[in-house]
Amino acid sequence: MATTYEFKTEARQLLDLMIHSVYSHKEIFLRELISNASDALDKLRFNSLTNESLRASTEDLHIRLTPDAKNRTLTISDNGIGMTHDEIIEYIGTIAKSGTGEFSELLRKANEKKEGMPELIGQFGVGFYSSFMVADRVDLISRKAGEEIAWKWSSNGEGSYSIEEASRETQGTCVILHLKAEVSDDEDFQDFAQEWVLRQVVKKYSDFVGYPIRMKVERTQIERDESGKPKEGAKEETVVEDEVLNSMKAIWLRPEKEVSEEEYREFYKHISHDWNAPLKWINFKAEGTSNEFTSLLFLPEKPGFDLFMPNSKRGINLYVKRVFIMNDCEDLIPDYLRFVKGVVDSESLSLNISREILQHDRLIQTIRKSITRKVLDTLKKMLNEDREKYIAFWQQFGAVIKEGLFKEPGNSEKLFDCCLFQSTASSSDWFTFGEYLERMKPDQDKIYYLTGESREVIENSPHLEAFRDKGYEVMLLTDPVDEVWVQYTSEYKEKKIKSAARGSLELGSEEERKKTEETLKSKEQEWKSLLDLIQNKLEKHIKAVRLSGRMSSSAACLVSEEGEMTPHLETLLRASGKDVPQVKRTLELNPGHHLLGKMHELFVKDKENPKIAEYADLLYGQALLAEGGQLPDPSGFNRKVAELMANAL
Ligand code: ADP
Repeated sequence: MATTYEFKTEARQLLDLMIHSVYSHKEIFLRELISNASDALDKLRFNSLTNESLRASTEDLHIRLTPDAKNRTLTISDNGIGMTHDEIIEYIGTIAKSGTGEFSELLRKANEKKEGMPELIGQFGVGFYSSFMVADRVDLISRKAGEEIAWKWSSNGEGSYSIEEASRETQGTCVILHLKAEVSDDEDFQDFAQEWVLRQVVKKYSDFVGYPIRMKVERTQIERDESGKPKEGAKEETVVEDEVLNSMKAIWLRPEKEVSEEEYREFYKHISHDWNAPLKWINFKAEGTSNEFTSLLFLPEKPGFDLFMPNSKRGINLYVKRVFIMNDCEDLIPDYLRFVKGVVDSESLSLNISREILQHDRLIQTIRKSITRKVLDTLKKMLNEDREKYIAFWQQFGAVIKEGLFKEPGNSEKLFDCCLFQSTASSSDWFTFGEYLERMKPDQDKIYYLTGESREVIENSPHLEAFRDKGYEVMLLTDPVDEVWVQYTSEYKEKKIKSAARGSLELGSEEERKKTEETLKSKEQEWKSLLDLIQNKLEKHIKAVRLSGRMSSSAACLVSEEGEMTPHLETLLRASGKDVPQVKRTLELNPGHHLLGKMHELFVKDKENPKIAEYADLLYGQALLAEGGQLPDPSGFNRKVAELMANAL
């Protein structure tokens, strides 16, 4: 008895889109199904390393295409890992990433323009559904390796699918496409029940697949004599033969000039499940050592939906002497380069290497190091040679790369050379720390930065005033990850990296600093009683009050001490559900501001004047607002401002 299930809303919308697709490269459905089959074979091979009972089933791993022109079907089968009943529901019946805003957005875009389709399918791992571009009914029969029962999934893509028990001789999966009939005005129509069409599509998209893609082909033959002529009386006979449609050549081992760009692109799509072309690829060999390997790496152009998800697929496929060992091998590449896809083929590792050994394997560590170096060098080169392209790349992946600054601080100098930041030097350009150093003022000895929620907010922060006056550049860091790496990185090329909103400010030459310090000190002594009063009034919110030369036009700002959490980081941590205590900061006042001058005058005349305490509150509120913070008592603040305005009229 077949059980029927409804598709979830988004799956239904997506299928509807596929069924009515006007996308012109429908042939890529075959690439997707072959890719799935190849992954299933990989998985079986990998599992058999640790599961003896599966070993016999890995003897003749292959993919088979069976076109049937009469019945208008195409079957794609593999003898890979297969799926259980529940796995079919989980993997084929639902779209894991549906329900996200991003998904709906792409769905909408794909609906509008036919070229939006690849992005949609690629980003959300729904390659299987692309079958509905060419088929009006799809059956899938699968038997999980090691199990007896097979299951048949079936759907016409319209709202529901059914599952029932079925039988299948070996482990693995076959997908039976009931091909759509030709629509007379569809000039893109390709008949996928034709051998030659299949041969062509496989060659184009899947030539490098590491397992034979077989197809039974009919050939007529006739017995011939030595000169090649048909023998007298010989009759033509039809023989059916297995043809292997792909060359299975390991693309990474072929000389680069012999591989076309198209081939590299298709290979990337095969291993990454990304439907977009890669931005760049790097093919290199490490030879002549006891750790020989070849590697083909790809930098994507667009991030996958799961770049920031904790259990995203990451890593590189590992081969040993051309034999596939495992995909998504995390030990081959640091986490902060998790968007890099590709292959490593080692000559030196043992074939029975397991996931457990990998982590501690010396050879793997060395490969990881050299891959990391190669990627960082490539990034740096791209930055130097094609800055515009690199900036576009950086805006997509920069936040991930910057994780490296604290996850692997040992590499940070090399990494910094690839990192771009915005700064007060330009409203839109991006700069490296190296470029910052070149522009540093002769009397400047530190690299300054300011972190915050957005450029707009921090750009107007009072913390920057003194820097502006001195003509010092400040890096403006607005990625959440910036709050983290700045905690771990204190230097670049022997120059201290310092927050513009932390600790006391020491700008200018030694002499200037001394002078400022002395002026502030004497002013502080003069205003001591007033400052004490302000501090008492604001005790709940602040740690101390001091005068500072940080501002020129603002009256007050809040600063953290070295090593303390910034308010932006506090907000980020709270938003992620962490329970962080409120850190009290120091209120800095600008003694040159006439407001403070006036306050002091009033204070000298009448220490008890209630206005002073009210002004203290307002100063604190202003300092918070100026840095984009939240007021503890917005309505109280408003009331006081309104009163002030009324009095001033
Ligand atoms: P993707 O391959 O990008 O994950 P698909 O929609 O093509 O997305 O497939 C979804 C999942 O279904 C796969 O990740 C895999 O787990 C499973 N699957 C698809 N085809 C097969 C197959 N031939 N054999 C085993 N599992 C398969």
